[in-house]
Amino acid sequence: MKKLIRIYFMIFVPLAILSSCKLNNHDEELVEVHQNIILLIGDGMGLSELSAAFYYGNTEPNFARFNEIGFVNTSSAKHKITDSSAGATAFACGEKTYNGAVGLNADSIAIPNMVEVLSDIGYFTGIISTSSVTHATPACFYAHVESRAMQDEIAKQLVDSDIDFFAGGGTNYFINRADSINLYPQLEKNGFLINQDIESIVPDENKKYGFLLAEDGMPTMLENRGNFLPDYTKFALDYFTKSGASFFLMVEGSQIDWAGHDNNAEYLIAEVLDFDKTVGLAMDYAELIGNTLVIVLADHETGGFTLATNDGDYSTIKPTFASNGHSTTLIPVLAYGPGAEKFKGIYQNNEIFNKILEIAK
Ligand SMILES: [Zn+2]
Repeated sequence: MKKLIRIYFMIFVPLAILSSCKLNNHDEELVEVHQNIILLIGDGMGLSELSAAFYYGNTEPNFARFNEIGFVNTSSAKHKITDSSAGATAFACGEKTYNGAVGLNADSIAIPNMVEVLSDIGYFTGIISTSSVTHATPACFYAHVESRAMQDEIAKQLVDSDIDFFAGGGTNYFINRADSINLYPQLEKNGFLINQDIESIVPDENKKYGFLLAEDGMPTMLENRGNFLPDYTKFALDYFTKSGASFFLMVEGSQIDWAGHDNNAEYLIAEVLDFDKTVGLAMDYAELIGNTLVIVLADHETGGFTLATNDGDYSTIKPTFASNGHSTTLIPVLAYGPGAEKFKGIYQNNEIFNKILEIAK
């Protein structure tokens, strides 16, 4: 099985530097190198949304654990203000495209995504989102379609993709489709275990895992989604660790954006705090295991959110929205781990793709 081939790099170094490594007969050092990537996308999380974690959480936010900070310009190929699919295509495929495109460039041609590129060199790959797993952002990491609205087709492409692990909502697009086809048998044929109870199982690296836990998007935090995002992120990390391979995991806090569209500050803050908790889990993993690059960013800001004074009362914050759509404010990028310094500066969103691949390869 391709994915179970561990990645080895032949490194030629003086014995004194790597004296603990095994020698083979050709005086070469054979060193197993894991280079894991955890990409956490807070959909719609601009600087004010991220800042909310500093004023509304009970503890110091996990965002504060990063020292390498940059900003990205998120405009799409055809619009000053991007949508989620053009934003995610830029990260996942390295090119700016038109709003609505999933894994296609501005000329509507399919371009390789990060999951395809990294799977080819032996990575395990996964996606987790609080939207449906076929929604714009996660879809860009495995699918190629001309419109994000084509979620039935996106689900079909997930079944045959290189993804080893997925969790989120979206049963509607797998078992309640316009063409009446049930995609579960095909997923199982491709090695997936569907909707296992993560409380009672130990991950098996010889299997793939799919979790579809809602008809469409997952419940909101205010509706008691609970620990879905951190818990499934932890299970995915356990699974990948057991595989012994390097891995790429994309985790999306999808509903920060939905709260911004709703101009609902209470909803937004609850989603940001849940996302920050998940960021903390990724950071704990990276600090413990090493060789893990953690990147936190967003595809765009949503709602023109601010944490301004309440009519001149400087002791009170009044969370306020300027719009019910996206904005083009620059987006903070936080990075930790090997190569994190590459993410400093101000640059275009599609440059994220090459920065990650330079470190992964
Ligand atoms: Zn978005």
